Amino acid sequence: MIELKSASEIELMRQAGRIVAGLLATLAQLVRPGMKTKALDDAARTYLRERGAQPAFLGYRGFPASICVSVNEEVVHGIPGGRTIREGDVVSLDAGAVISGYYADAAVTVTVGAVSPAVRRLVETTRQALEMGIRQARTGHRLSDISHAVQEVVEGAGFGIVRDFVGHGIGRAMHEEPPIPNFGAPHMGPRLKAGMVLAIEPMVTERSPEVEILEDGWTAVTKDRSRAAHFEHTVAITDAGTDILTQGDGEGKPD
Ligand code: MG
Repeated sequence: MIELKSASEIELMRQAGRIVAGLLATLAQLVRPGMKTKALDDAARTYLRERGAQPAFLGYRGFPASICVSVNEEVVHGIPGGRTIREGDVVSLDAGAVISGYYADAAVTVTVGAVSPAVRRLVETTRQALEMGIRQARTGHRLSDISHAVQEVVEGAGFGIVRDFVGHGIGRAMHEEPPIPNFGAPHMGPRLKAGMVLAIEPMVTERSPEVEILEDGWTAVTKDRSRAAHFEHTVAITDAGTDILTQGDGEGKPD
């Protein structure tokens, strides 16, 4: 069952969402060649603590860090650690925060220094796929309208859309109903209603969308080791339109 959120619940999720947005913007500025991904996790932990938010990922099914950092062939769920970021890398940052028991979840992908036009196009296509998916997240549409819009953008650009991981409802838990695939025929699944809050998150690969999990039990990498990008927003569907909760400056001020 898809739980509908009240306006006051959505406001709490917006507080969490602004913190996530501010965190991701801060981390994106920190990324530079020579740094280890662990340094980003340390910065994230401090950022969240200073704002009274809990990291949603830390301890989730035993996940050992506050954020996910996925570099190049890593698609999602990379554990920050000893990997050194290098010029030309593609770095996906995924973070969640909890405020008063309510969750927000978002991701961005940044490139490091000079990258090839193909990599820039990969990242830009993924960002655009998220945007087009979000445009479909409105009352009266059906869930798979989001899925289909994402797939059209990604495959239309010649990239792969990952099937093994999907977006999700979010609220009092990080993962709620419904799962939101990034592929499929349009006009299927539940009708979208005001009060639904969804984490929409295309994961896009340069070549084959097949993924495998590394021995750490978490890190999802492309089987062909081609590079990947990931963008995500938490959005609330309201009668007034689509409300992106994971934006703002992270300091509680509106945009
Ligand atoms: Mg998510």
